[in-house]
This record gives sequence, C-alpha cells and structure tokens, in this order.
Amino acid sequence: MAKIRFSERMRERMTLSFEVFPPKTEKGMQNLPKVVTALNAYHPDYISCTYGAGGSNIGRNREVLQEIAKQTVPCTHFTCIGLKKEVIRQQLQEYLDNHVEHILALRGDYPKGWTHTGGDFDHATQLVEFIRKEFGDRFEIAVAAAPGGHVECVSEDQDIEYLKQKQDLGADYIITQLCYDLEQFKVWRDKVDRAGITMPIDVGIMPVTTKHGILTQCFSHNACAVPRDLALVLTHNWFQKDPDGNEIPEIKAAFREEGLTYSANLLNRYLTLGIHGIHLYALNRADDVSQVLARSGFDRYFQSLL
Ligand code: FAD
Repeated sequence: MAKIRFSERMRERMTLSFEVFPPKTEKGMQNLPKVVTALNAYHPDYISCTYGAGGSNIGRNREVLQEIAKQTVPCTHFTCIGLKKEVIRQQLQEYLDNHVEHILALRGDYPKGWTHTGGDFDHATQLVEFIRKEFGDRFEIAVAAAPGGHVECVSEDQDIEYLKQKQDLGADYIITQLCYDLEQFKVWRDKVDRAGITMPIDVGIMPVTTKHGILTQCFSHNACAVPRDLALVLTHNWFQKDPDGNEIPEIKAAFREEGLTYSANLLNRYLTLGIHGIHLYALNRADDVSQVLARSGFDRYFQSLL
C-alpha cells in the first residue's frame, strides 16, 4: 500500500500541494532544483508533476519526480492518450520501482486535431480500473473533476456520475480543475455530496498573473467561468500594448499585482468553505506561489501545523 495516504490526511486536516511541469529546456531543468526548494519551504504535503499526452515528456517527468522526491512526496500525473495497456503497465511499474506511489489518473487533453485517445482507454474511469486491477493498492489514486463541468460533458449530472464511477472503481481523492466562481463550486459540491461521492476534494487554484495565461486557461482549454471580480482584473489591465504595438511593462506588472491579490483572496474564500486541500498550480514559478501564500496568510497557517 502507498505509505502515505493523502486521502486520509485530508480528512484530518487541510493539505497543501503544488503542481510543476517538466521544463522543455536544459536551462529550465537546471533551474528546477531551486524551484522545488523554494516550494518546499512551505512544507507541502506533496508536489505533483504533469505528464504530456502520449508520454511525450516521460523522461523529464521522471527526472522532475526524482528531484521532488529528494525533498518531499512526489505525485505523477498520468494520461492514457495514445497508450496501449502494455505500455501503461510498464510505465506504472517504473514509477513504483522509483518509489512514486501517488498518481493523478487522467484521460488527458486530445492533441490538436485528435477526436479520440488513440490508445486502449477512452476515459480516466478505465485507467483507474486498470491501475487497481494490475497494482492493487500500491498507488494512491487522485482523479480530476471540473466544478464548472468538463468542456465535453453532456450535462453536469452526467459528469458527476462519471466522477462517482471513478470512486467506485477505486479512486481515492479529487483534484479540481480551475474554478474561479465560488457559487458554481458550492452548487457542484452539493451535487457531488448528493451523488454519494465521499472522496476528499483538493481544490486546484491557478494564480492569476498574466492576461494571456488566464484567457488561455479559461477559454481555450477549460470553459471556466470568469466571475465579475476576475473580469475586473482583466478589464483594468486589458490594453497592454501602445498604439505602435509595443508592450507596456507597467500594465503587465499592474495585472500581475492585481491578479496576485485576487488569487490570495480567492484562496481565503475557498478556506471559508471548509475544503480538504489546496493544490496550487505553481507552473514552476515559485515567486507567484510565495506571493499568493503570503498575501493570503496561508503561509502562517501551514507553518503552524509543523
Ligand atoms: P475523463 O474523466 O475521461 O472525462 C473526460 C470527459 O468524458 C468528460 O466530459 C466526462 O464527463 C466524460 N467521461 C468520463 N468518463 C466517461 C465514461 N466512462 N464514458 C463516457 N464519458 C465519460 N492533462 C494532461 O494532458 N496532462 C496533465 O498532466 C494534466 N494534468 C491535470 C491536472 C489537473 C489537476 C486537472 C484537473 C487536469 C489535468 N489535465 C492534464 C487535463 C485533463 O487531462 C483534461 O481535463 C482532460 O480533458 C480530461 O481528463 P479527465 O481525466 O477528467 O477525463
């Protein structure tokens, strides 16, 4: 059995975790230990590392997990896009051989132009079932859920039914997709409760730091609602180029400043809802995370647990 079980810990106290991705460049890889050290200063329960569709960055994903493991507990994301069962079995065994016992089991986003996974599994439900069948309880399994509804879902109720299936097939806890609309989150969580889903919910929060980042995350990938307070951050700092098309650094800096304060407030508002965990999408930018934690006062909360 996985030695540490975050699903159990989350039922006792709120957890803190971060998410990083495998850098594409050598320079990024060289900088990674510094990023992990800076994040680890907040004593996170775990740090997760993303996985590219089709296993395109599996080598770097493993290197990053090894780096994390030097300091805290690693959790790997894993998607079934383009993979046959045999390859999945082999890659999962390699994680276990390297003491990675925590996995976020995902379908993955289709690469551009794809309309199906091109592998043996179509959905994360099948991946969860496979992991439990092949590896028993050696992994603790997290699964994704979208409080705003997944972009492809037929209906919110149907989406929640699939989430329940993930639980029934052996998933341990949930990590959520971005959700800036707390009213939507509350409605969704009530429905999740009513559906008999008892998995703890680790709330995913993406710090708001750039206009491009927030537009891309909300609109091109996730169909995530932008509530008025977030729309105001965007509106206040919308025009980031002068009439000649040159960037205006002051406006970009103002966006980041306002966005970080917005993110810290969001974190505090989530806290009042009594959630099980905070999962900050750190995106290898430890400074953004430090700012959000300091401005929200969360840094002191987690220090007090030590
Ligand atoms: P699924 O659970 O398969 O759901 C996808 C859609 O299919 C939904 O609309 C759902 O309602 C429907 N569905 C679910 N089960 C069934 C079923 N059995 N039959 C029919 N329909 C079904 N992507 C990456 O590529 N790499 C990453 O590292 C990564 N990390 C992520 C981390 C987090 C915290 C989150 C929230 C997402 C991450 N993603 C990542 C994105 C994720 O892969 C996408 O959101 C993807 O579109 C859906 O993944 P899923 O596991 O939710 O898929």
